[in-house]
Amino acid sequence: MESRIESQGMHYEGNCIRPPPEADSILLQVTLGCSHNKCTFCGTYKDKRFRIKKNDTLLSDILFASKYMKRQDQVFLMDGDALIIPQERLIWILERITEHLPWIKRIGTYANTKSIRMKSPRELIELKEKRLGMVYFGVETGDDEIRKKIDKGSSAQECLEMGRKIKDAGMELTTTVLLGIGGKEKSLTHARLTGELLSVMDPNYVSALTVILIPGTPLWEEHERGDFEMPDERGLLIEMREMIAYTNLSCGLFSSNHASNYLPVRAWFPKGKQEVLNLIDAALRGEIGLRPEWMRAF
Ligand code: SF4
Repeated sequence: MESRIESQGMHYEGNCIRPPPEADSILLQVTLGCSHNKCTFCGTYKDKRFRIKKNDTLLSDILFASKYMKRQDQVFLMDGDALIIPQERLIWILERITEHLPWIKRIGTYANTKSIRMKSPRELIELKEKRLGMVYFGVETGDDEIRKKIDKGSSAQECLEMGRKIKDAGMELTTTVLLGIGGKEKSLTHARLTGELLSVMDPNYVSALTVILIPGTPLWEEHERGDFEMPDERGLLIEMREMIAYTNLSCGLFSSNHASNYLPVRAWFPKGKQEVLNLIDAALRGEIGLRPEWMRAF
């Protein structure tokens, strides 16, 4: 078996992504693509038809990692939403990780409202007990009108409930929100409703990304037709300021360090909130330089 493992390596297929905090994690691709795959701004998995990978392949990858990835103490389950895997099978995967990679401290995954909805609170606690401790959840916006338009597949209320469900299971919750997703027209409403949703959900981490139009996606086509207009740099800064002003976290990190953003900010709320608002105000007055367009990426 060992020489077969060495010759096979990890079985990655297609375009693989992971959140920035998982850069040093063992990346274990347990599903292909995303079970929803409809969000109009997202081009990440358009090349993949969703499926769960075979247990043999997963075990081979875990054994490969046990031999060659001994210095990495976190595992991230790719692709889009590993939480959609039926409970028994997901438990089997987590147990194989524990069995062969006993030094792993934490396992993380992406999730969406559909996959969280399919797990009972008891099942989520069971997953947490098997070291699935970090969930990355795409909130994008708290505005129902925009959620419908971008085909997010759930209402803001459902999104809020699913985020709370993850936290109630004792898992850490990282949310992403999308600056610019409401276009110029709905910029401030999007900012306020998203801030209000985040305040009730109270995630551990909020990561703000700026929409980058990806050719071939429905949102890009809308933009080409003239039906969607992104706020300009100043508009996006005002939007981020408004979102932060409306966001109250009991103890959470708000950051916009992602390469898609014009102004990187990073602060623990509630303590650092005013400082971030002051920083954005300084940028709006032109006292702080913004990231040039050529350096931005999604
Ligand atoms: S749920 Fe996430 S991965 Fe799936 S289509 Fe939407 S943004 Fe893309």
